Amino acid sequence: MSRTASPVAGDDPRRRIPRTDAVLALDEVERAKQRLGEERVRNVVRDMQSRARAGEIAPEEVEGAVIAALESVHACAFTPVLNATGVIVHTNLGRAPLSPQAIDALEAAAGYVDVEFDLATGLRGKRGVSTREALLKACPAAQDALAVNNGAAALSLIATALAGPGSGKRSEIVLSRGEMIEIGAGFRLTELIESTGPVIHEVGTTNRTHLADYEKALGENTAALLKIHASNYVIKGFTSAVGIAELAELAHAHDLPLIVDIGSGLFSPEPLLPDEPTLTEALEQGADLVLASGDKLVGGPQAGLILGKKEWVERVARHPLARAMRADKLLLAALEATVGGPTPPVLEALHTEPAALKTRTEKLARAIHERVNVTCEVVPHDGRVGGGGGAEVPIPGWALRVPEHLASELRALERPIIATTRDGACLIDVRCIPEFEDDELASAIAALMKR
Ligand SMILES: *Cc1c(COP(=O)(O)O)cnc(C)c1O
Repeated sequence: MSRTASPVAGDDPRRRIPRTDAVLALDEVERAKQRLGEERVRNVVRDMQSRARAGEIAPEEVEGAVIAALESVHACAFTPVLNATGVIVHTNLGRAPLSPQAIDALEAAAGYVDVEFDLATGLRGKRGVSTREALLKACPAAQDALAVNNGAAALSLIATALAGPGSGKRSEIVLSRGEMIEIGAGFRLTELIESTGPVIHEVGTTNRTHLADYEKALGENTAALLKIHASNYVIKGFTSAVGIAELAELAHAHDLPLIVDIGSGLFSPEPLLPDEPTLTEALEQGADLVLASGDKLVGGPQAGLILGKKEWVERVARHPLARAMRADKLLLAALEATVGGPTPPVLEALHTEPAALKTRTEKLARAIHERVNVTCEVVPHDGRVGGGGGAEVPIPGWALRVPEHLASELRALERPIIATTRDGACLIDVRCIPEFEDDELASAIAALMKR
């Protein structure tokens, strides 16, 4: 911090700006130091001193301003928000919210923990054994399972282990042109796969791919067949694709593995999302390796799930790259708690009956009316799975319709509420908000409507 250029006169109010040490010695500031570390606190103090020097606040206000500012400084800058969009797996809002069980597991795993230690013998243990068991229990069709950092890591690891450097001539992965997917932020799965050496052998066309297309592509360079679920788009009209069972038969007739990326990772069929494949079905239909994300409809932490035949999962797990994509103890803990636990929040949100949502939303409208005597409309509003799959599938529900300008004001709250805007209105959908939050929600909205 540079000193002011001009000498400070005797009666200059800036002489009254409290010294850093004096502010740091205040009880409240001392407590904040314990919570945030000295450096963060010093920055706030310096900030307020310079505001006083610039005449933005009075010297006498510095201490109070520091204390007030420290209240909103957190060790982590993430701001917990309420998701009022009706989009269940909202990529920009962190995808799946964890279940209470998963949160407990995270806390238990946060310190020293026997992640790779055998308590009975005191010797080194095998990593992630209980998470693997939970995955196999949830998906008995799998002989083996491996969790890595995320779905993209799972795909890259499988492709590299089966067709990357070290696979000899067998470097080609056969994939339909209808399944060459960009998953968001400009990342393309085909480029991800090819980035470590494998080559994509494209077959078919965007709208139609036949078994004969795959057949023609197979040769001495083929390492594997790959099928990717169109998780974020649909191809409609004059279309044709080859199913897992047929592809598996073809692959096995040529002694090749079939890899299936199902995207969202459902364990069992979901009636509301009939086009969403499941890990179990994919394996039962003959896939050798199936991969999925852990934080889409599985509802757990960010993770990549690899399930399938023992020989292939082992081959993948032994590849050197597996170490670079290794799941950390927090992922393993939260994933085990999710997979082996009660229905996770994402599936709860998906299954909430429209009638129940309507009742809640009407109650919210009444609570707002009682507080500020303003009537808000309750209107039909479709939810979405979002980044988790179920592309284009509307999930019927309801929303509270409030003036459009409220959207930005709701985002500016200390606990931001993220709603959508449409046709000149702001729509508040409670599908992804825990019911116990409704009171706070009503108060927050009412307070903004009153202004
Ligand atoms: C989401 C998705 C991925 C990437 O998974 P992440 O967990 O986001 O890394 C890969 N393939 C498909 C089909 C997907 O839907």
